[in-house]
Amino acid sequence: LLEVSGLRKSFGGTEVLTSIDLRVDTGTVVALIGPSGSGKTTVLRCLNGLEQPDAGVISFDGGPSVTFSAATTRRRRESLRTRSAMVFQGYNLFPHRTVLQNVTEGPIHALGRSKAEAEELAMRLLDRVGLAERRDAYPHELSGGQQQRVGIVRALAMTPSLLLFDEPTSALDPELVGDVLRVIKELAEEGWTMVLVTHELSFARDVADEVVFMDGGVVVERGPASQVLGEPRQERTQRFVHRLL
Ligand code: ATP
Repeated sequence: LLEVSGLRKSFGGTEVLTSIDLRVDTGTVVALIGPSGSGKTTVLRCLNGLEQPDAGVISFDGGPSVTFSAATTRRRRESLRTRSAMVFQGYNLFPHRTVLQNVTEGPIHALGRSKAEAEELAMRLLDRVGLAERRDAYPHELSGGQQQRVGIVRALAMTPSLLLFDEPTSALDPELVGDVLRVIKELAEEGWTMVLVTHELSFARDVADEVVFMDGGVVVERGPASQVLGEPRQERTQRFVHRLL
């Protein structure tokens, strides 16, 4: 579904992604793990067209395919947005809009859906995460776990081919984590293609087909989840995994 090669990104002279290659097959879940600051979030932001890479190629089966250089336009970069949708660590809901408005905003304004059509899909998706009756609530009236389930529904409503999760449970109180992980797991079982940045290594072992370990802006090791998390080959991976599992 997605192929990334030679992805580079610097912020103010500091290279945070040195040369990232990544491949995500349709229907698979790839977990991106690694220490804080290793560049995981930046990879997701590049895939979603939120960040402009300095170099590299990001291509989706059937398009778009974007080769980055200093000359790449914002419009070209943002063509990537049509294919993936992101679930953020801090939910990023619009605080002055209701749950329903948060979910229908993208479909109506970015995809040109009618209000009725967007609301129908939104209600179906809210229903499946148990939040249909909260359609008129504002984000601050919901728990963190409920807000993140709305965040997931908002991503699904964009009917993307790829879902990107950026540490979706790390801002949640421990007792709220389970509900959100359950929704993500169900989506994985339904065959959604996902890239998941997570510190929850036992969850990664449970849902991911492939695990990619990053450190210092490079991919140190990748392989089947059971291998990378169970029998890591690189010393840096071993140290990281043994500390967290
Ligand atoms: P974490 O697990 O803490 O979220 P991460 O692996 O996702 O870390 P990134 O958030 O991708 O790491 O950050 C990689 C590096 O890039 C960090 O050193 C960070 O400070 C830097 N960085 C990220 N975004 C910016 C930005 N907009 N401006 C300047 N530096 C940035």
